[in-house]
Amino acid sequence: MSQTISINDSQRLQLKPLEIPTKLLLGPGPSNAHPSVLQAMSTTPLGHLDPDFLGVMDEIKSLLRYVWQTENPLTIAVSGTGSAAMEATIANSVEPGDVVLIGVAGYFGNRLVDMAGRYGADVRTITKPWGQVFSLEELRTAVEIHRPAILSLVHAETSTGARQPLEGVGELCREFGTLLLVDTVTSLGGVPIFLDEWGVDLAYSCSQKGLGCSPGASPFTISPRAWEKLQRRSTKVTNWYLDMNLLNKYWGSERVYHHTAPINLYYGLREALRLVAEEGLANCWQRHQKNVEYLWEGLESLGLSMHVEREYRLPTLTTVRIPEGVDGKAIAKQLLTEHKIEVGGGLGELAGKVWRVGLMGFNSRKESVDRLIEALGQVLPK
Ligand SMILES: *Cc1c(COP(=O)(O)O)cnc(C)c1O
Repeated sequence: MSQTISINDSQRLQLKPLEIPTKLLLGPGPSNAHPSVLQAMSTTPLGHLDPDFLGVMDEIKSLLRYVWQTENPLTIAVSGTGSAAMEATIANSVEPGDVVLIGVAGYFGNRLVDMAGRYGADVRTITKPWGQVFSLEELRTAVEIHRPAILSLVHAETSTGARQPLEGVGELCREFGTLLLVDTVTSLGGVPIFLDEWGVDLAYSCSQKGLGCSPGASPFTISPRAWEKLQRRSTKVTNWYLDMNLLNKYWGSERVYHHTAPINLYYGLREALRLVAEEGLANCWQRHQKNVEYLWEGLESLGLSMHVEREYRLPTLTTVRIPEGVDGKAIAKQLLTEHKIEVGGGLGELAGKVWRVGLMGFNSRKESVDRLIEALGQVLPK
């Protein structure tokens, strides 16, 4: 007996090809991917052990070292979003009982606390009001008290728009035999960063913010010092998918199958990194800075003010105070439906208090700012 399986009317409607309206993504990420990144991603897939694909992986490693300004041999992309790369740093560096000191001045500091705790860390925190950053003296005092195995900081706190200065922190950590772990998810590609000069031991990022790619292939790097700690572990890394001992055999010279790489995302990441290198890293940082200053001027001309002190504002993400009596959510909704522009709302301590405006990667352009300021001028109450 054969059975006929038919589709219903609503499923029939879904037979038309996918159609997605174009929107300008000026929120906390994802940002719009560069057209040539999208083109690279539509290239035909290769096998994950094909020599031509292994060549693409090598190019990604080399270009990542450039954009991060590091010579770490193990500098790769993790298959997954920024949170997967974040979890990779924690899973590989934390052994149960390790004291991990985390600077919490926003949502992503708290995510690090949650993750480190799940891997058995003895978590200690220092906190700051959301929108502020830690001074080197404050970090020194905390490291002296807690003597952590690892100090974790968020370079670009996307929930607040603040840039945590990192100069001198690496030296401080070396004095105490501490590893420095840094979240660079919203800084890589848009904010000046010098991993080796700053003595950063573990860092991670994502593809869909400053690099202007689609989400899913996330930069990860580990210094020789942190690699040694990993080799001294008495227990296996408890996360199989993110175990760098295994991943290094795929990304390194052995080329052993571990998992099937998301081939087309790696094409996109390779193209996004190539674009940064072609523009020049310093030029790329300068472009982000120039366009964000133009944004701040435009916002001020509308009578709006920024949440973070100018010196510590990120070039990639700006928190804008919602004026008294204005419905922030309604304005964001109007921007999206009437003007096809996405901006973010506040999280945690800043919920309902700010909008979050991102100018990342391909979107860090004068035209993006002009479109937003014009639209805001129309939707804001006079
Ligand atoms: C976006 C973000 C993450 C998480 O990245 P996903 O790609 O969303 O998983 C982590 N840290 C910071 C600072 C971020 O902005």
